[in-house]
Amino acid sequence: MLSLLSDLVNIPSLTGDEGKIADFLTSFLKNEGFTVELWPIHPGSERRNIYAYFGSTRTNKFLFTTHIDTVPPFIPFSGPDANQNVFGRGTCDAKGAAVVQIQAAKELFAESVVKEGDLALLLVVGEEIDGVGMKNASKMGLKWENIVFGEPTEGKLALGHKGILLLELSTTGKACHSGYPHLGSSANHALIPILKQFLDLELPTDSKLGPSTINIGTMHGGEAPNILSPSASATISIRVSTSFETIKTSALRILSEHPSVSYKILAEYPPPRLYSDVPGFETINVGFGTDIPFLEGHDVDNVKRFLYGPGSIFVAHTSEEFVSLGELEACKNGYKKLVAQHLHVPSSGSHS
Ligand SMILES: [Zn+2]
Repeated sequence: MLSLLSDLVNIPSLTGDEGKIADFLTSFLKNEGFTVELWPIHPGSERRNIYAYFGSTRTNKFLFTTHIDTVPPFIPFSGPDANQNVFGRGTCDAKGAAVVQIQAAKELFAESVVKEGDLALLLVVGEEIDGVGMKNASKMGLKWENIVFGEPTEGKLALGHKGILLLELSTTGKACHSGYPHLGSSANHALIPILKQFLDLELPTDSKLGPSTINIGTMHGGEAPNILSPSASATISIRVSTSFETIKTSALRILSEHPSVSYKILAEYPPPRLYSDVPGFETINVGFGTDIPFLEGHDVDNVKRFLYGPGSIFVAHTSEEFVSLGELEACKNGYKKLVAQHLHVPSSGSHS
């Protein structure tokens, strides 16, 4: 696992530039005996998802999936240091998970725990920006009964994560000298009351995922202190831990009270429910988003979805990104355990 991880980390694969790592993984997986399909995000694109399985059976009961893109900047592999930690971009988010998934799949097959038709790997592009890879994977026409999504969860099963409602609001005014405000109208003044209303929204709390929260992350407006602002805009992101529809309805109600404010919904998805009630595993509450919501037709009512991987989100996206070799090994065994415990259990739709 160490040499594969160092190879993967040393191939830069910032979102949008996943061509080289897909080529590398394709030959690596073929060498290891997998059948490999490449799925470009559009015809001819170098940005390709990798779908790998044993033999010729494309439909598999279990899926391991993670992403092969990283955030910038590229940081080469180094280590292990005295604490058995290895460093570099992607070590924990999420090339570490990819390596663990590949190794667990190989061992499960070698040990005859899985056979052809039991287990497949899906390595996607684009998770760090817009989930284009996972959205595309929804179009493969395949379904799985159990899916483990690999992201840094410190080797614990995630209870779920929050959904999101991301809005962009904009207003227009009419510029004029601020000494004669009756000659114009201020886009800033039109925007402020609606933002206040959003801040005053009562956001519900979920017993497992915690409070829903709001952030007005950006505000732009105006040209000078002595000019009425001709245009203004703001982005509002609501991280939703409970009923997505309730929160969206409240947001739309506020927007409908301000017909002069135009808006765009930039992103929206409810909190995905995950399966985490597995003996022998600790659980964790995570605050980050994933591309789990983008894999359509795999909700918790018909599929067991797990979120599980090595490394900590607190070092992901930082210059100190690392993963420990001990955690890679422990997580590989965790993946194998999830398969052994769930492969032959009929999916009942139960969840925790
Ligand atoms: Zn990630």
